[in-house]
Amino acid sequence: MSQLPYWLAEALAAERSPPRPALQGRQRADVCIVGGGFTGLWTAIMCKQARPDWQVVVLEKARCGSGASGRNGGCMLTWSTKYPSLRRWFGDSEASRLVQASEQAVADIASFCQQHAIDADIRLGGAVYAASNPAQIGRLAPVLAMLQQHSLNSWTALSPAQTSALSGSALLQDGYHSAPAGSLQPGKLVRGLLRVASEMGVQVHEHSTMTHLQEDGQVILHTAQGQVEASQAVLALNADMPGQFPAFANSILLVSSDMIITDAAPGKSAHWGWSAVRQCATCAPSSTTGAAHRTGG
Ligand SMILES: Cc1cc2nc3c(=O)[nH]c(=O)nc-3n(C[C@H](O)[C@H](O)[C@H](O)COP(=O)(O)OP(=O)(O)OC[C@H]3O[C@@H](n4cnc5c(N)ncnc54)[C@H](O)[C@@H]3O)c2cc1C
Repeated sequence: MSQLPYWLAEALAAERSPPRPALQGRQRADVCIVGGGFTGLWTAIMCKQARPDWQVVVLEKARCGSGASGRNGGCMLTWSTKYPSLRRWFGDSEASRLVQASEQAVADIASFCQQHAIDADIRLGGAVYAASNPAQIGRLAPVLAMLQQHSLNSWTALSPAQTSALSGSALLQDGYHSAPAGSLQPGKLVRGLLRVASEMGVQVHEHSTMTHLQEDGQVILHTAQGQVEASQAVLALNADMPGQFPAFANSILLVSSDMIITDAAPGKSAHWGWSAVRQCATCAPSSTTGAAHRTGG
């Protein structure tokens, strides 16, 4: 059985290219980014978009996408239902900006992929939130009222028949649908970002673990066989951050998350009406249960 995450293995099999060469010797960069996941690669692309003349280097300890970016649920969900918490932490206008930005991100990811010919199996079927037990009924109402009050509400109430038709389950009740949401194959997205970054001139080194970092006016990032001397460094290590930089241990909270993937079941998904594939979540107090489906599943 492959040790690679399912999505990454599928993307690498389609790509059939060898790993990007490991860093050897000394290299100079304007920006050196550590971590070849969504954060690192989008950062590299945005640096190049803003400053095409910059030398941008990415160091990735395994293959790009080996971390959470190549093993997640592929759910493109927004922060609209987090609005009350965002407002509590950041105030009205920042919370509104974040909700709108999260909705815009869904369209932006889709248009970026289209523009750069990244086939990440994107499906923009929206999201359904619904109650799976009586205690959850009505939980969304105050959140949606608050969104409505600030002209941010993208959710529409569904009838019981619509809830059941859109979710594929007769057990779900009190459903709502929001259009800005969808799903994608995350391994194909992250490997597509790698291709685009490389085409823009970003130097990506796989199997190049940053072993330590020295700050001395410049930043010097060391791997087993080389160093990058950079004006700036971006640490996009995600879950590895507190382990490798203990100074962040008290400010980064690691949250575990698991995905279960089933065999493709084309007959069943057609029966459930999932041809458009949308995200379904229940209104549990502290978590949502996302459903991402394999291509053709
Ligand atoms: C099971 C699961 C399900 C999820 N579901 C969803 C979802 O449905 N929708 C959603 O939006 N988000 C989801 N997420 C969250 C999402 O995957 C992450 O927010 C996102 O992938 C983080 O990207 P990243 O680039 O910051 O981190 P990562 O993808 O983890 O990238 C960090 C990279 O740094 C590399 N690295 C670490 N240390 C070093 C070093 N010393 N030198 C060089 N490289 C190093 C790692 O190998 C890794 O590739 C899920 C996460 C998990 C785990």
